[in-house]
Amino acid sequence: MKIKKKSYNAICKYQHVIREITKIPHAVAIMEILYEEGETNIGLLAARMKKNYYLLKKSIQKLEELGIIVEKERGKGIILSLTDRGKEVYEAISKIDATMSPDWKERFKHMRAMVHFNMYENTIRISEYLPDGRENIVDVDITINGRRMYLYCEACGSFNCEHINFIWSHPKLRRALLKKAQEKHLIIVEPEQAENEMNENSI
Ligand SMILES: [Zn+2]
Repeated sequence: MKIKKKSYNAICKYQHVIREITKIPHAVAIMEILYEEGETNIGLLAARMKKNYYLLKKSIQKLEELGIIVEKERGKGIILSLTDRGKEVYEAISKIDATMSPDWKERFKHMRAMVHFNMYENTIRISEYLPDGRENIVDVDITINGRRMYLYCEACGSFNCEHINFIWSHPKLRRALLKKAQEKHLIIVEPEQAENEMNENSI
């Protein structure tokens, strides 16, 4: 997963406003149309989105308050466009979409050949076929601590790495782990949470 430094900086810079935007209905779709078309008549925007104008009005007002959109009266109509800030924010959002939330097949496409795995009592062994043809064996431990179950990757020394995310994204492996947890009455600790807990404990 590579995010260009410039995009990353934009995402950080606007993270607060992006969080606000995600709470506004249809906000990203409105921004996308304005980004592509430049100035747009509010009636045409509603028609293109197949939404009632009054439904969109509230979202548009909120986007104006955030400095994303500007409204101008022209003749009898209202013309909308993105502000410079709005364009930058939209670009940052589209980078997040492109790099951070693709479905798991896309995300793990370089690990597509991780097809062989064996689930031993407490280890999941993954064969990872590297682009140059080499095979890399990765052992991920199923760690049980009291009633809590974590995954720990020996290759990465991590509770939250690509291998672990691959395992949780893999329907068959996921099912097997859920079954194991259920049988032994264990609580599953998600990768991000496990990593945070381990960092806190080591301080
Ligand atoms: Zn790993």
